[in-house]
Amino acid sequence: MGLSQNRCDVLVVGGGPAGLAAAIALRQRGIDVLLCDALVPPIDKACGEGIMPDSRRELARLGVDLIPGQGADFRGIRFCDEDSTVSADFPSGSDLPGEGIGLRRLVLHGLLLERARELGVRMRWGTPVRLAPRRAPSLDGESVNYGYLVGADGQVSRMRSWAGLDRGMLHSQRVGFRLHYKIKPWSDYVEVHWAPLGQAYVTPIGDNEICIAAVTRFPDLVRTSEIVDSIPALRERLRDAETISRERGSITTTRRLRRVVRGNFALLGDASGSADAVTGEGLAVVFRQARLLAESIASGSLAPYAAEHAKTLRLPQTIARALLLMDRHPAIRRKALRVFAHDPALFAKLLSVHMGEEALNRFILSHAPWLGARMLMPLRA
Ligand SMILES: Cc1cc2nc3c(=O)[nH]c(=O)nc-3n(C[C@H](O)[C@H](O)[C@H](O)COP(=O)(O)OP(=O)(O)OC[C@H]3O[C@@H](n4cnc5c(N)ncnc54)[C@H](O)[C@@H]3O)c2cc1C
Repeated sequence: MGLSQNRCDVLVVGGGPAGLAAAIALRQRGIDVLLCDALVPPIDKACGEGIMPDSRRELARLGVDLIPGQGADFRGIRFCDEDSTVSADFPSGSDLPGEGIGLRRLVLHGLLLERARELGVRMRWGTPVRLAPRRAPSLDGESVNYGYLVGADGQVSRMRSWAGLDRGMLHSQRVGFRLHYKIKPWSDYVEVHWAPLGQAYVTPIGDNEICIAAVTRFPDLVRTSEIVDSIPALRERLRDAETISRERGSITTTRRLRRVVRGNFALLGDASGSADAVTGEGLAVVFRQARLLAESIASGSLAPYAAEHAKTLRLPQTIARALLLMDRHPAIRRKALRVFAHDPALFAKLLSVHMGEEALNRFILSHAPWLGARMLMPLRA
């Protein structure tokens, strides 16, 4: 296929992390890509801004270099509630970095954009895709000749409805808010604080900066400040801290679609299904999907992508459902955190499963009976 203005091998709609990662992975395989997004960079979005080790590994595969000093490393995850605190370090596998990195969303977007530009991705910003039933999409009124079409237009995907791929299960829908505070990070873990209104998770972003993402089932009632104020440990720490960004909100879902491919069209990223933000795995999943999609297109068919896509979401969605059970039932959450606080090695094993370093089935076979018994037994204070 030629490289004339409106001809391309692949047209990617959506220049968020999913669309940009797919464009990069396609160019790495020599495929011609045209990418469009309705917005103009720098593009910001509500995000906890924690790049987990598996996500960091995917960025390295895309050739995206994280420049020292641009973010802040974190070594693991800490869960806290009114009674208990438990922490675990990330496992370090053969090619898994032992640390995650807290990185402003704007910085991440800029790095992906720069890498796409370096590889020769053609990009049209400020260009919304126009969709009409049974008609090929146009870019702001101009028609495009493409071999494959990719819909990476986020949670509220219009491409998904246009292609008739909306059918599936919506397991959960919540809202997340993000706010930055000027304060020296007090921990090198991402802290997830559990409270009746939702979770607030704290990610170190720089020497003197943290990001708080607050996720709630009650978006009509609360925003970041209400959730932070309802958690004494955070209220105390942030009493005099200055907020240094505008609060942003976004929905977060646990969604599974029946199909993500129709003909030469594929859904990608949040548009193709997702796991609740509290898993912290959103970016790792979209980067994995982008690699899978590029490999599939390079092989000349979307069939491998259609067959493998569900696997990218299986584990994060299983974990999301367990965490959402803890969100809805404070008694279960309090008990689970107390059990983990008594046995931090078990929490570390669970984190290892979460990072894909240990099989979930093996974890269940080895630990579920014991964990079940501990959940039923009274715990000493
Ligand atoms: C509160 C919150 C906290 C989170 N925290 C984390 C975290 O700590 N770590 C993590 O890994 N993940 C996290 N996530 C998840 C992560 O942010 C998402 O998985 C990720 O943004 C998905 O990327 P995407 O490219 O699929 O979608 P998006 O980032 O939403 O990008 C979609 C793009 O499509 C464009 N678009 C939409 N419609 C059109 C149109 N008609 N024409 C052209 N362009 C269009 C939009 O402008 C946008 O740029 C969090 C999510 C939330 C909500």
